[in-house]
Amino acid sequence: MERKGGTRKGLVRALVRVGSKSDHRPAVARKGAPGRDQTVCAGCGAVFTGQTWRRSALRLRTAAEHGSVRGTCPACLQTAKGQAFGRVVLEGSYVAGHAEELIRRIRNVAARAEFTQPERRLIEVAARKSTIEVLTTSQKLAHRLAREMVKAFRGSVSYNWSDGDGSLLAVWRRDEEEP
Ligand SMILES: [Zn+2]
Repeated sequence: MERKGGTRKGLVRALVRVGSKSDHRPAVARKGAPGRDQTVCAGCGAVFTGQTWRRSALRLRTAAEHGSVRGTCPACLQTAKGQAFGRVVLEGSYVAGHAEELIRRIRNVAARAEFTQPERRLIEVAARKSTIEVLTTSQKLAHRLAREMVKAFRGSVSYNWSDGDGSLLAVWRRDEEEP
């Protein structure tokens, strides 16, 4: 039982949960996977082959040649239902004055991740008064986003993985330096 983070636990609990402890595959992989090769996602065009969803012209062509079926990939299902396994909160006095560049960075990193792994993507980026909240389909993407924030903007980050489904809450913080 992880105790650090205190009140943060409440935020983690707010994430929608699916799956159970007895199934150790990544949550994103078990929800809605059709288990049939050559399934083409109607939402994003990803193709299911060999246990993975990928977006590529080659896969689409191969699927068409082998009699593709239409379906919905897990990430599109999660996005539609707002099921987040990752949440990144950006906070601190630095955030309000730099929201635009922070969000641009988030979107760039996510776009690169989604290109190779379409199941890892943003569900929502919400800019609030002094914080930015990012919901992702996978905890791995949330982890990567938080790391990239530190790389690009310094600051510090704390991670809270939930005991149940492995969903991640990452809180990145940077305060404006005194002049
Ligand atoms: Zn899709």
